[in-house]
Amino acid sequence: MNFSTSAFTLGLTAAIATFPASAANVVTSIKPLELLVKAVAGDSVSVSTIVPPGSSPHNYSMKPSQRRALEQAEAIFWVGPEMETFLSRLLGGHEFDGRVVAFTEISEGEDNHREDEHSGHDDHGHDHGDGEDPHIWTDPQLALNMARDIHARLITLEDMKKEELDANLARFEQDLNAAERDIKASLAPLQGISLFAYHSAFERFAEHYELQLDGVLTLNPELSPGARHIAEVQDKLRQANQPCLLTEPQFNRQWWRSITEGLNVTFSTWDPLATDIESTSEGYIQFQQSIADAVLECLPEQAQH
Ligand SMILES: [Zn+2]
Ligand SMILES: [Zn+2]
Repeated sequence: MNFSTSAFTLGLTAAIATFPASAANVVTSIKPLELLVKAVAGDSVSVSTIVPPGSSPHNYSMKPSQRRALEQAEAIFWVGPEMETFLSRLLGGHEFDGRVVAFTEISEGEDNHREDEHSGHDDHGHDHGDGEDPHIWTDPQLALNMARDIHARLITLEDMKKEELDANLARFEQDLNAAERDIKASLAPLQGISLFAYHSAFERFAEHYELQLDGVLTLNPELSPGARHIAEVQDKLRQANQPCLLTEPQFNRQWWRSITEGLNVTFSTWDPLATDIESTSEGYIQFQQSIADAVLECLPEQAQH
């Protein structure tokens, strides 16, 4: 008997059994978008994410099998050309017309590369600016708007039960708003603590919850920053009140360890890509909570230096 073949067959059967035969086939670029699809559609869609654990959407290169998955997908969700640059050219092609939803887009006009957000035209107490920072999914209200866009697209797919998706979205909104209130309250002791982030992914979360973000280590997460920028950040760290540096698992720790040498800096790791969050309809809310938990590690009584 060929053990490897039967193991393979078994695995395949299990994979098929996970979803109903009619489950729509959805592809997302990054895990947080997968979590939003799950919040809206539960198990009525089969969703797969392109950027695998440990990789960064800023510099990913797709495998041929992933390209085929995109070609076969009924709906594709990605943040947009400023974020997953590796998808820009492919998804701009006409073969994907009508199947792709980007949550940010380059505005019309050749010489104007400012972004405009679908998801930014709301009013929840603070201004989201002109949308220059593409890490929009870390802001819970922008994520809610993304969930609404996902809902709007998914209900157009065949075999989708609109009432079910409506109910899911309503429940998500309610749960997310409750989680947001709890998180806001829990973050109150962070007042006056000076936060630093590895790259701009943390900015929208900080802005939404009115945290004090005093510095961002690198504007391009793929590159080590220049000497002058490092010197500026070191200066800010020296002057900061109880500085805490929020690092990310996708990027190398070596160089930021060395620039903080001799300084009294607390470290905490948060994951903007929700790598360890289970892909369920509650996943996005757990992701929000996981960011808050990481920030709370910055409190002096929690801190590990
Ligand atoms: Zn990023
Ligand atoms: Zn916000």
